[in-house]
Amino acid sequence: MSEPMRVVIASHNRSKSREIEQLLRAGLNDLPVEIRLLADYPDAPPPEETADSYVGNAVIKARACTALTQAISFADDAGLEIDALNGQPGMYSRRFAGENTPFSVKMSLLLERLWHVPVERRTARFRCAVAIALPSGEVYTFEETLEGRIADAPRGQAGFGYDPIFYVPSLGCTLAELPAEFKNRISHRAKVMRQAIPKLRTLLTQSP
Ligand code: IMP
Repeated sequence: MSEPMRVVIASHNRSKSREIEQLLRAGLNDLPVEIRLLADYPDAPPPEETADSYVGNAVIKARACTALTQAISFADDAGLEIDALNGQPGMYSRRFAGENTPFSVKMSLLLERLWHVPVERRTARFRCAVAIALPSGEVYTFEETLEGRIADAPRGQAGFGYDPIFYVPSLGCTLAELPAEFKNRISHRAKVMRQAIPKLRTLLTQSP
């Protein structure tokens, strides 16, 4: 019997990798695919994210992962853009206020900066780009957003990162108040995966 094909999720962020893994498993469950995490490759150094776009950084991560693993790699790059802060923290969402600063602190800092901003001007979006890299050198990219508002205080325990302050008006709650299965249907990442998974399926079924 032939070996299952490997897809490696090129992220060092465990919470995010878990979300991507759930979405990939759901989308590829009928194919003989082995989904691995970059954590399975302990020597993998995180590549420098030096591009000036989410897509560019997703490509850097996917290419570095394929170079290391010789497998098809799946990388995403995401950020939170707050309109009243001119799009910050944006591409610096992870590094905002220091890479290792707890999210409770990062969120408090953002809320402080917005304390005077009325609800109608607290508009924000999560942006997510995905790149699929193949050992042949080919790369495919996708991008999507989720529109929302910054809440006046953190709410909810689910999800990760900035989820507790990201309020989704159509649902009347923050992303952190949604069960994982629900977030995984409506999020920026879920939307971009709905574009990327059909392409990944085609690549896997065409793969020699
Ligand atoms: P990166 O894509 O790993 O560089 O993520 C950028 C930053 O945005 C990280 O600090 C993440 O925690 C945060 N982030 C990315 N996606 C989400 C999300 O779905 N919810 C909340 N925060 C997120």
